[in-house]
Amino acid sequence: MTPPILLGCIADDFTGATDLANNLVRAGMRVVQTIGVPEAPLAADAAADAVVVALKSRTIAADQAVAQSLAALRWLRAQGARQIYFKYCSTFDSTPAGNIGPVTEALMQALDCDFTIATPAFPDNGRTVFKGYLFVGDQLLSESGMRQHPLTPMTDANLVRVLQAQTRRRVGLIEQRTLAAGSDAIRARIADLRAEGVGIAIVDAVSNDDLWRLGPALAELPLVTAGSGVAIALPANFGLAPAAQAAALPAASGLRAVLAGSCSQATQAQVAHFIACGHPALALDPLRMAAGDAVVRQALDWAQGRLAADAPLLVYSTAEPAAVQAIQQRLGVARAGELVEQTLAAIARGLVGLGVRQLVVAGGETSGACVQALGVAQLRIGAQIDPGVPWCHAASPLAPQGLHIALKSGNFGGEDFFTRAFAVLRP
Ligand code: ADP
Repeated sequence: MTPPILLGCIADDFTGATDLANNLVRAGMRVVQTIGVPEAPLAADAAADAVVVALKSRTIAADQAVAQSLAALRWLRAQGARQIYFKYCSTFDSTPAGNIGPVTEALMQALDCDFTIATPAFPDNGRTVFKGYLFVGDQLLSESGMRQHPLTPMTDANLVRVLQAQTRRRVGLIEQRTLAAGSDAIRARIADLRAEGVGIAIVDAVSNDDLWRLGPALAELPLVTAGSGVAIALPANFGLAPAAQAAALPAASGLRAVLAGSCSQATQAQVAHFIACGHPALALDPLRMAAGDAVVRQALDWAQGRLAADAPLLVYSTAEPAAVQAIQQRLGVARAGELVEQTLAAIARGLVGLGVRQLVVAGGETSGACVQALGVAQLRIGAQIDPGVPWCHAASPLAPQGLHIALKSGNFGGEDFFTRAFAVLRP
């Protein structure tokens, strides 16, 4: 029989799930991430302290987000999870319609729990909460770029107000001065808020020390809702401490490749750096994809002659904003995105067919498309390459022994990410 897991996590998007898993691994948990809610129980040899179920529920209709989250909850409880963690974005991406409020409320009801916390604080990534106001770096959320987000514009930085607009439960606040006073003070404040009928408390945190003090006070809560920051302090509640063993993956072998479909600034710099170092790189032209040219075949022919055991190659659609806009005007935003994602996903399949077993993918949507094309349903989370981006080991029908894959959110990672990633994997 599979040993029960300790922590069951529900993440509202794919790279956010990996970011959470990464923090749990660094704090000593062995973590498996699943793509959607699995149909079968966790494998008997999975050896996981935590499972992160990655949904794509951030911006779908609230009732669907609730249904998917409840399905994830049922599966996690069936695996024995002692505590549930609902993970959302560290910029609290949501609208008055949800989905953070409705999902939290539904999970509380299903868990028969009258109190939980909510905090996107992640000081390591510049997300801090003070007096209930969320800061992104030095700016209030409402003055940051998130003000103009196409799907979830965040125009109010006061999270008590933001969350109260999404839920019937009363929303309260645990202030930083309580955090500074220590875990007992936080426990006392939770008891007071509960007595007042508060169901969800936004929690301030401006440093990792705040999160370390918060952690022990959350041990008895059936449900924690947060960005990935709080995860640094939860494994200790289960008696776990940071250990290299938590990040252990099978030994890496096979050929190396990088696929980049992100046009974010960090990825642009990474592509430029990789090329400047003299590594082989092939640029893809979306207009040729739209014209039905054999772009995939040609890319694989190009790669076949160049793949070498210890030298990675790069296939990329990464382009500067003006070039992306020109393509989007010609093809439409959605069609351009879909076309490029599907082309890169087909190239990922082809590369694995050619023997690639160490694959870096840049771009959140691009990663989702590649993982789907490779038939990956579960990932074991390994060592961090850069903050938020770990190596993973995945089973795929295309690679009987599995493959190592790193899924990089567009704006994550240092300039040399595409070369350094492979050095991290070396035994
Ligand atoms: P990020 O994590 O940086 O947001 P994503 O992969 O999530 O990266 O999103 C990038 C989007 O841009 C994808 O839909 C991708 O297909 C699309 N795209 C990539 N390259 C181009 C390009 N040259 N022209 C137009 N769209 C592109």
